[in-house]
Amino acid sequence: MNFRYRLMQFMQGRYGVDKTFYVLFFFSAVLAIINTFFRFWVIQLIVYGIVAYALFRCLSRNIDARIKENDFVTKKLFTVTQKYNAFRQQKADTTHIYKKCPKCKAVLRLPRRKGKHTTTCPKCGNVFNVRVYK
Ligand SMILES: [Zn+2]
Repeated sequence: MNFRYRLMQFMQGRYGVDKTFYVLFFFSAVLAIINTFFRFWVIQLIVYGIVAYALFRCLSRNIDARIKENDFVTKKLFTVTQKYNAFRQQKADTTHIYKKCPKCKAVLRLPRRKGKHTTTCPKCGNVFNVRVYK
């Protein structure tokens, strides 16, 4: 029996590697790299803890629970990347500014014209002042 076959047999019915595994691995790697400068034993312990948890997830037979965790993490990750992309898009837009309505918190895309303006929120009808500096 070769090693590969044994490994396949061992992993039968176990969860394996998913996106959460990579996220955990990435975080532990970042922490480990940061800790090479500070050398705190607490951070080292946290790194070991994260790696141990990632391995536990990988070898776990409770697949339903692991799928739930992975769904949670991928949803969070999606939200973060979506916010980041929106932020980048707003920064790249030189002809418009983005302001939040103070009443309903909707984000309004307004033409970038210097000075004081009055604007009406199309969602809730709230009228408020916007000042554009540049
Ligand atoms: Zn509004």
